[in-house]
Amino acid sequence: MSPAATRTAESPADVVTRLRAAFRTGHTRDLAWREDRLSRLRALLTERGDELAEALHADLGKSRKEAYRTEIDFTVREIDHTLQHLAQWLRPEPAPVPAVLAGATASTVRDPLGVVLVIAPWNYPVQLLLAPVAGALAAGNTVVAKPSELAPATSAVIARLLPEYLDRDTVTVVEGGVPETTALLAERFDHIFYTGNGTVGRIVMAAAARHLTPVTLELGGKSPVFVDRGTDLKTVAARLAAGKFLNAGQTCVAPDYVLTDPETAPALEGALAEAVEALFGADASAHPEYGRIVNERHFDRLVALLGSGRTVTGGAHDRGTKYIAPTVLADVTPDAPVMREEIFGPVLPVLTVDGLDEAIAFVNERDKPLALYAFTEDPAVRERLLTETSSGGVGMGLPLAHLTVSDLPFGGVGESGMGSYHGRYSLDTFSHRKAVLDTPLG
Ligand code: NAD
Repeated sequence: MSPAATRTAESPADVVTRLRAAFRTGHTRDLAWREDRLSRLRALLTERGDELAEALHADLGKSRKEAYRTEIDFTVREIDHTLQHLAQWLRPEPAPVPAVLAGATASTVRDPLGVVLVIAPWNYPVQLLLAPVAGALAAGNTVVAKPSELAPATSAVIARLLPEYLDRDTVTVVEGGVPETTALLAERFDHIFYTGNGTVGRIVMAAAARHLTPVTLELGGKSPVFVDRGTDLKTVAARLAAGKFLNAGQTCVAPDYVLTDPETAPALEGALAEAVEALFGADASAHPEYGRIVNERHFDRLVALLGSGRTVTGGAHDRGTKYIAPTVLADVTPDAPVMREEIFGPVLPVLTVDGLDEAIAFVNERDKPLALYAFTEDPAVRERLLTETSSGGVGMGLPLAHLTVSDLPFGGVGESGMGSYHGRYSLDTFSHRKAVLDTPLG
């Protein structure tokens, strides 16, 4: 825990009471307050980005370039988009009234909720903490921000820097692991925004139920990829490899496994091996852009998955440096260990299916994924995948990129989560849409 957090030594109940009192002053409702707090958060990211990038390198071996692209600049863009549109998003939305209420006006106004708890995971520990915090502030709330203890350098730097930019009655950082989070969850919040795995998601939801607190659960799962026959496999492989092996595969929307037909599979596997080499050279351990596994537990879990098929490329690993090479596995069966859990690491299994019907059935027999990706030139295939499967989001022709579009909701469905955020969807998540009917007395 950082010295700043240790010094605080305030109980969770006291933190929430203080933040609720700050909320009740009414200041957070002002547009000027919201814009000011967002601008301060932005300043933290732009002025202290290098300190954040160093912490991300210490925790995950993230390169400076990747740290800026996927965490720091990403969050700045999200804040800029919000600052640009916030005044307009906050305007009351008029609604038509029925004839019997002629003369009255009806509208929807967005009310802040109060005190929001944001619990973040370790894989994008800056973005996945601060983008929801930005949304909660934009909506006029005060916030408790709980970074992941599994990215300790990033957690410490955020706990140190945030109070320099935002007063603690706006955002209070509470560091810690399971005991600290459990203690926080005993308190009554007005919204809980959790990103992480489904097991803890259930714990969060059960704790929230005691206070009837609404939750957003940003969870994970196995995001499938369908590669149609007749597609340009060089392009497909280049895009797949770039998406899969970013952050050493530790991305919630990373392509988890590939489904293709038996005739396409060998050429696709070869193209993937070439794409990996084009990205990271013959030895990714020496490439500055390739990351490391977060800890030994995840390293051991992933190494146990490497035997799930024939190694097309990769397979090398080193526990001392928590390095696992970008790995493509072929001849993988649906019951192989690598298919029994979300991989969340740099292992990409290729499975064969007998055409689109079987691919759709394969996806629908499993939990609803956070993302579904497809590479196809055929509009009918696109349409069938869109209408016959359910997933948090869809990326046609390019993995991961849908979540960089601020005007798209980002979130899961079923086992991959509930609720969404980004852009105006964050405002929806962290506000109450209040119905107002105004009827003249005269
Ligand atoms: P993690 O271990 O860092 O846990 C996330 C948070 O939960 C941490 O802040 C941690 O302190 C807290 N936590 C852990 N155990 C707890 C408990 N028993 N009670 C209360 N709080 C607890 O991260 P993780 O869960 O390993 O993250 C990986 C998972 O998150 C993957 O499934 C991934 O797909 C998913 N994920 C989803 C998104 C998304 O946006 N949908 C983004 C990133 C990761």
